[in-house]
Amino acid sequence: EAKRHRDGDPQRFHQAQEDELEERLTLEGELRRAIYNHELCLHLQPQVDEQRRVIGAEALVRWSHPERGNISPGRFIPLAEETGLILPLGLWVLKEGCRILGEWCQDPGYHHLKLSLNVSVRQFQQPNFVDQVLASIEQYAAPAERLTLELTESLFLNDPEGTVQKMTELRKKGIRFALDDFGTGYSSLAYLKALPLDTLKIDIAFVRDLTLNMQATPIAGTIIALAESLGLAVIAEGVETEDQREVLAHLGCSTYQGFLFGRPVPVESFLPEVLTDTSATSTQQSTSNPPA
Ligand code: C2E
Ligand code: MG
Ligand code: MG
Ligand code: MG
Repeated sequence: EAKRHRDGDPQRFHQAQEDELEERLTLEGELRRAIYNHELCLHLQPQVDEQRRVIGAEALVRWSHPERGNISPGRFIPLAEETGLILPLGLWVLKEGCRILGEWCQDPGYHHLKLSLNVSVRQFQQPNFVDQVLASIEQYAAPAERLTLELTESLFLNDPEGTVQKMTELRKKGIRFALDDFGTGYSSLAYLKALPLDTLKIDIAFVRDLTLNMQATPIAGTIIALAESLGLAVIAEGVETEDQREVLAHLGCSTYQGFLFGRPVPVESFLPEVLTDTSATSTQQSTSNPPA
């Protein structure tokens, strides 16, 4: 009785709010520091074709905090969006992504790989976004046609015309666009048709409950059919089981991403995995050309 009374105490409620605010302010300061002190890094998760060949990767930002350990993007990306820190963070991701692509380009083992980067709405809506992308590509001599930018449906909510214009400009340079988490947002079919997209990413929510003994037509199937009718490619996200892969393949999906094929890993660990197919040739090469 007394406890219940205390819990309802407005002063206590106020204290909890203050604690939360303080925690956020601390985290905000630390994130600001992290962006400029290189505590962030990109991990890469493979994207594979029907034959499970790695055709590219999605870059996912990671924050390893010196005292708190790894902080998940689910916690700090929303904070970054609210505070505006997503702008320097997003620019860092863009540059680091282009640096990686530029490096792959130098190596015949990797130069076929595509890289996808997540772009926040706020970042995309900056007036100089197009310039930032083009400058980053140029700085690292990254092949534009192997760069995909992942956008989310919330872009539809305001300034659809500006969105189309920016996408069109970047697409002329060869950059591609994927719509992330498709099916969870607000997109209308009219906008979907108007946007110069290349790929729809089926959200994990529609992959999670796919099973082999499915009776009803799963939503994933509807999305795949929709993509086909719009002339778009499809990637299924969050594929964890062989059953899910099989159902998706049956529904006509041809590109996959998920723990079944590989978790996000540091850039250095990603590359050797890609090369496993050609390891015989690279071994031979390293024998005939011993390191200096
Ligand atoms: P997203 O872009 O939809 O990324 C996919 C998320 O699903 C990643 O979570 C990935 O680790 C996770 N995932 C991949 N395969 C599986 C699977 O088989 N099962 C399960 N359960 N999960 C899987 P992560 O890395 O925690 O990122 C969460 C979100 O944070 C991303 O969702 C994206 O919206 C955002 N994010 C990550 N990196 C960046 C970035 O560089 N910039 C921006 N703006 N947002 C980012
Ligand atoms: Mg994504
Ligand atoms: Mg996604
Ligand atoms: Mg997501």
